Amino acid sequence: MLPLMAMLGACIDSPQVSKSRGTKQSATVITPRPEARQCLAQLGQTNASFTPLPDQYFGGGCSNLNTVKLSDIRGDYNQLAVANLGPLACPVASTFAQWARFGADRAARQILGSGLVRIETMGSYACRNVAGTGRRSAHATANAVDVSAFILENGQRISVLEHWNNGSPAERQFLRVVQDSACKRFGTVLGPNYNQAHRDHLHLEIGNGAFCR
Ligand SMILES: [Zn+2]
Repeated sequence: MLPLMAMLGACIDSPQVSKSRGTKQSATVITPRPEARQCLAQLGQTNASFTPLPDQYFGGGCSNLNTVKLSDIRGDYNQLAVANLGPLACPVASTFAQWARFGADRAARQILGSGLVRIETMGSYACRNVAGTGRRSAHATANAVDVSAFILENGQRISVLEHWNNGSPAERQFLRVVQDSACKRFGTVLGPNYNQAHRDHLHLEIGNGAFCR
């Protein structure tokens, strides 16, 4: 179904994981690798506000490697706040920042007549499996983010739960356009059309796949 998630889980099952398992002080701080530094530089070029976080192995296939705490994102005309976001792998954060501006903010202005001021999420890092499977979720490596709602400059709140099926034609179109633009940038995008577990958010996951439901 989602082989990328399994691959990501396998990549971090290194000896370092078992070494740190079960200890509270399991943080492993390393100098960012060259590709990590490059990603941080790219994220910086989007004019996002973020703080790089130390690498951490939590054991059991869960880790935060090359993650950042993303606080806001540059839109076309203003900074967009991002709510309820935990550690996010830099490549996801970078793709998210571009999608927020060019996919979501512009779609809001074009379709709803008002730009975005805030994107609400249901988080990013969570040490857990894909629901109903024995495979680690991309959330277990901070490689996915769940987006639940968009707040417009005019105060309107468009949520996946309330407006995907029951919004006005424009609101419904907006949510579908932002999902489609996410599908062009992320490897895996899951929304309400995929299953009941995604009725209230869009799951955006980095990767080379093209799984869009
Ligand atoms: Zn998710």
